[in-house]
Amino acid sequence: MTENLKRRLNELEFDNRFVNELPADPDLSNGRRQVVGACYSRVLPTPVVKPTLIAYAAEVGELLDLNPEEFESPEFPQIFGGNRLLEGMDPYAMCYGGHQFGNWAGQLGDGRAINLGEVVNGAGDQWALQLKGAGPTPYSRTADGLAVLRSSIREFLCSEAMYHLGVPTTRALSLVLTGEQVMRDMLYDGNPKYEAGAVVCRVAPSFIRFGNFQIFAARDDVENLRRLCDFTIKDAFPHLHSDQPEKYSAWFEEVCKRTAEMVIHWMRVGFVHGVMNTDNMSILGLTIDYGPYGWLEDYNPGWTPNTTDAAGKRYRFGNQPLVAHWNLYQLGNAIMPLVNDVESLQRGLEIYLDRIESGSSQMIAEKLGLLKYSAASDEGLKKELFEILILLETDMTIFFRSLAEIGINEQSEEKIISILSEAYYSPALLVGEIRLRVLNWVRDYQCRLRTDGLSNEERKARMNRVNPKYVLRNYLAQLAIDRSEQGDHSMIGELLDVLRNPYEEQDGKEAFAEKRPEWARNRVGCSMLSCSS
Ligand code: AMP
Ligand code: MG
Repeated sequence: MTENLKRRLNELEFDNRFVNELPADPDLSNGRRQVVGACYSRVLPTPVVKPTLIAYAAEVGELLDLNPEEFESPEFPQIFGGNRLLEGMDPYAMCYGGHQFGNWAGQLGDGRAINLGEVVNGAGDQWALQLKGAGPTPYSRTADGLAVLRSSIREFLCSEAMYHLGVPTTRALSLVLTGEQVMRDMLYDGNPKYEAGAVVCRVAPSFIRFGNFQIFAARDDVENLRRLCDFTIKDAFPHLHSDQPEKYSAWFEEVCKRTAEMVIHWMRVGFVHGVMNTDNMSILGLTIDYGPYGWLEDYNPGWTPNTTDAAGKRYRFGNQPLVAHWNLYQLGNAIMPLVNDVESLQRGLEIYLDRIESGSSQMIAEKLGLLKYSAASDEGLKKELFEILILLETDMTIFFRSLAEIGINEQSEEKIISILSEAYYSPALLVGEIRLRVLNWVRDYQCRLRTDGLSNEERKARMNRVNPKYVLRNYLAQLAIDRSEQGDHSMIGELLDVLRNPYEEQDGKEAFAEKRPEWARNRVGCSMLSCSS
């Protein structure tokens, strides 16, 4: 371990390139307003009464070279609850716009996120620190700039769970209770109540979103659009940096590819973002803004956890690849003024669709333990797989783990059904025609496996590397929230610990891999969430 790995809080080094290189809002007051001609507004976090650290991710501290003892220091909650700044921090809120549920919504901006600054670690990596829920900013519109405990636990745990699953994501350093009460009408049904306030410190190389570019385009501010694009390319896509105008379409193409990769990962692990508005799309292709997200329990491409989206289900699981395409189209539109050749943007969008198509097939092949996807032999197998998954309520996560247990030469129907029945919410219904169809598919699958010639053990190992055993099941997050709201925060750490090794069997932790219990089927917070957080 080098000295660099042991920095004290006051030894963290900041290089705030976003604020140093981009135009600031000259107005330093913290009143809600339209901010034009600027990428951000300087704003301080609002102090809170009693900041208390209730969870942290030591490995995110490592990214910053932070000495782990610092999590225990009395300064930590003060800084990451918003009461104190470290030397070198220069807090600001970003200006961005966005399409919400398909409609242009104008200026949005960091309404309850305050960037503290960008840490540069010993290896030269840059990590922006951002407090979520640290008080109002000029972009808070009609809201309070705060976040409640339940949504902060969800953001903290899911950011880290996704990282450990290998899904590109923003990270979460810490979760601090503010000691303040926050009023929320959780289901927007006229029943507001007070809830505990909390602040998560998010960490990412950059928090720039599609909407940061869209706001300048919408305002015909081409000069600032260009500045922001040039900055983003130089800062986060340095291999594309040049003085040639072609760099913009090359960059767009890369954003398309990264976004495709992110979405394919979501489909692989059963993650539903829930609010894929263009302001919630990271330019780096990271999963960002964990709001009313959810995890598929039974495989259902039509499912969305977001009650605000219940009518149109725009952001349902199965629609995510297409919505990301729509969002990329909006980004392409926004940067059009910088690109001479519109066809090059079209190309980026086509590449996105190609990647989704080939990447999804490859991903399914990996989930099935095949060496390589071949359309000729595997298209039918894939299609029928998705048909049998919806015949009965089938837990997607358990299904793929169970499938890995079926031997390539297993003939016994009883045995096959008994292995798979783990995944069914009502295994007793696995009879007659349905049972026959499932068994037929398994036979075709076994047949296909023989052409690869992998041993059962090899195939299982391959499958278990891409099919998680442990995901942040909606009801597990809710149980951690229920306990935390009663003052027992231990389940947050316990869950995080299990989710650190999602692909591994963990002795004594099997309960965290179980199907959704019946009580959670229709419980608010488990299957239904609103944007209220
Ligand atoms: P979302 O789509 O939920 O990520 O948020 C949409 C917009 O609303 C963003 O500009 C957020 O910053 C803002 N927003 C959400 N919740 C709050 C809040 N409690 N206070 C201020 N702004 C908020
Ligand atoms: Mg957002």
